[in-house]
Amino acid sequence: MKIPIDPVDSEFLEKREQMVSGLMMNGYLRTQKIIKVFMEVPRHVFVRDEESRFAYADYPLPIHGGQTISAPHMVAIMTELARPNAKDRILEIGAGSGYQAAILSKLVRKVYTVEIDERLAAFARANLAKTGIKNVEIIVGDGAEGYEKAKPYDKIIVTCATPEIFGAWVKQLKTGGLLLAPVGEGFYQELTGIRKTKKGLEESNYGGCAFVPLRR
Ligand code: SAH
Repeated sequence: MKIPIDPVDSEFLEKREQMVSGLMMNGYLRTQKIIKVFMEVPRHVFVRDEESRFAYADYPLPIHGGQTISAPHMVAIMTELARPNAKDRILEIGAGSGYQAAILSKLVRKVYTVEIDERLAAFARANLAKTGIKNVEIIVGDGAEGYEKAKPYDKIIVTCATPEIFGAWVKQLKTGGLLLAPVGEGFYQELTGIRKTKKGLEESNYGGCAFVPLRR
């Protein structure tokens, strides 16, 4: 029996393979299980229809309300730094398209993602439903307050530029947990890691990045 091949999908599949090999060649993707997940998640489902032919290029794309879906290399950097574990419960700040949450969802137990813009929350929810992902919960609200209800989190990933590390995030993070956030108020920020230990907070710097700002 001949299995019909959807020409649109196979075209996207080829582009997705090219995106992933590019990310590997540049050293952004290193871990086998993360590489596999980047191959599985159809990024073109997470962009607007008019942008779908650019979905596998390595740059951010506009979604709604002046927001963007982060560039694939940025999602790769954040995901590799998070060292996702199958048992993890992760909090993301800024659901946007839902793509970063989708990637994480296949590597961890549960992802909670807070989005301030109702329209984007609905967009992310629809995109996740289209890809059959069920372990992501989208909460409409101000992510600066984290999400108290499901704390504590193994990891917190902030995907909008924040002027500071808010106290709620540190409180809602497990001891031993890791927070990743682009910290800064200008166009460029410093990708910052905060490890919460029994003795206090350990800060690491992972270089420059450019995210859209956190809004209140
Ligand atoms: N992670 C997303 C990209 C995020 S873009 C993806 O994979 O597509 C940044 C997002 O943060 C935008 O959707 C924006 O609306 C949201 N955001 C901005 N301020 C916020 C706040 N205070 N709380 C929650 N979300 C916020």
